[in-house]
Amino acid sequence: MPSRCTHLKSVKTDTPNTRGCEECLASGDTWVHLRLCRECGHVGCCDNSKNKHATKHFKKTGHPIITSLEPGESWSWCYVDELDMELG
Ligand SMILES: [Zn+2]
Ligand SMILES: [Zn+2]
Ligand SMILES: [Zn+2]
Repeated sequence: MPSRCTHLKSVKTDTPNTRGCEECLASGDTWVHLRLCRECGHVGCCDNSKNKHATKHFKKTGHPIITSLEPGESWSWCYVDELDMELG
């Protein structure tokens, strides 16, 4: 079990590309919570949302690290290491 994420070089942005889940906005769908891809700025919906676009984005692109976009939440998550972290 790794105790540290080794993918921090994939953190390239903290600016969301869109104001909501990119795919849900395109299809007119709704979401529960939003997650920001830190490699490309993609915004996807969380695993409590029916479409799970944040996880689908990782599976499609391999971009490992997301940060919660919910107000008051600052945690990040590495899909590869399955590790919680604070990126500060
Ligand atoms: Zn990692
Ligand atoms: Zn979505
Ligand atoms: Zn991405």
